Amino acid sequence: MDGTFNENDLSRVVEADRAHIWHHLIQHKPFETNDPRIIVEGKGMRVWDQKGKEHLDAVSGGVWTVNVGYGRESICKAVYDQLMKLCYFAQSAGSIPGAIFAEKLIKKMPGMSRVYYTNSGSEANEKAFKMVRQIAHKKYGGKKTKILYRDRDYHGSTLAAMSAGGQDERNAQYGPFAPDFVRVPHCMEYRKHELDGAPDENFGEWAADQIEAVILREGPDTVGALCLEPVTAGGGVIEAPEGYWQRVQEICKKYDILLHIDEVVCGVGRTGTWFGYQQYGVKPDFVTMAKGVASGYAAIACMVTTEEVFDMFKDNADDPMNYFRDISTFGGCTAGPAAAIENMRIIEDENLLANCAAMGDRMMGNLRALMDKHKVIGDVRGKGLFLGAELVADRATKEPVNEKLAQAVVADCMAQGVIIGVTNRSVPGKNNTLCFSPALIATADDIDQITDAVDGALGRVF
Ligand code: PLP
Repeated sequence: MDGTFNENDLSRVVEADRAHIWHHLIQHKPFETNDPRIIVEGKGMRVWDQKGKEHLDAVSGGVWTVNVGYGRESICKAVYDQLMKLCYFAQSAGSIPGAIFAEKLIKKMPGMSRVYYTNSGSEANEKAFKMVRQIAHKKYGGKKTKILYRDRDYHGSTLAAMSAGGQDERNAQYGPFAPDFVRVPHCMEYRKHELDGAPDENFGEWAADQIEAVILREGPDTVGALCLEPVTAGGGVIEAPEGYWQRVQEICKKYDILLHIDEVVCGVGRTGTWFGYQQYGVKPDFVTMAKGVASGYAAIACMVTTEEVFDMFKDNADDPMNYFRDISTFGGCTAGPAAAIENMRIIEDENLLANCAAMGDRMMGNLRALMDKHKVIGDVRGKGLFLGAELVADRATKEPVNEKLAQAVVADCMAQGVIIGVTNRSVPGKNNTLCFSPALIATADDIDQITDAVDGALGRVF
């Protein structure tokens, strides 16, 4: 390499990528023998790679992010105009797009009141965790520092977020973790046989009662918060069963425990409502969000809380410690809220929540039909355009399919020009769930193209 670089020379770009990029999420050794793939361009639901091959993106940028689709000129223009006016100022002061987006967001979240801007989902979650700890010190004499999290849930890649990580395979090599994070059992109906004593009836209430059992074991005066995903994402697209959320809310109230809902994936329309928790009648104390907030056009994440929580951090002006002693440098970037305002306008004006719900129903119908046809599909589940199909070697025992076969399905779809995802890959013995999260603009033809590709792939692989 001679140091000259022309981004239009795509083989040269591939060379630079292979030589210098440490990619996310992948094992590099096998990757190096694969065909390289650089995504060059995107428009609507589709992306093109460096060879000019078109792909229908059924996972919104790989990780549930590009909710309004690619190539949105109006978002780019809003970001450009804002950057020319003011690119950045720390959030110790305010900014025009920051204030406008916060007001618009709060209008979608009755009961919530304050927005704390940050860069990533992990960081947004850490802000809430720190607030819980500070409340424990201020209000409960240093007790109630414990934060409960659920088996199979994920809350981010930083160390405290990993301490609340319910996916052992991700955590295995990175301990020790932060103290006072305590796990509660999963609530996955399809795999309830893994849970001792799980009943046939009223599993939802029973699963929530397992949280209460953990609280009683730990001591209610030591537990400050419970952190849950509305629909578990990377852990296998898991929607809680009927009766679960109501009991969760009762339990939090009974033991004075703050409820933190992680909407990093589900937030901003993915499940067919603005936020996933709104489908279950839950009243959270903290809501965190990231991916769909600006659909990947700019990096922005938000930690949103109530006026009641906010008040605890400002009620004594004479005490110099009485505030949230925290900063997120890039929480002051104005590109994020500028993009988020336009992202929200698009979702409203194009009626994308309704489209998400309708296309989600269509996709669920298609997946159920595939389940009738292919016995390797043991379960289909999810909400809105956030769906999963779990692959099993044996429907009776629910033994997970070999993960290499699950990956072969993804590769076959890719060869057909459809990008789908799989959770828990490279985890022998864990469930392997194909996952689908197309942009909220998906049409019936897009949905059918995705499920037709899966149909073909399952036929060839199994
Ligand atoms: N929470 C959930 C539910 C997620 O799925 C993720 C990322 O996938 C995160 C938090 C972490 O977000 P980020 O990667 O932006 O830090």
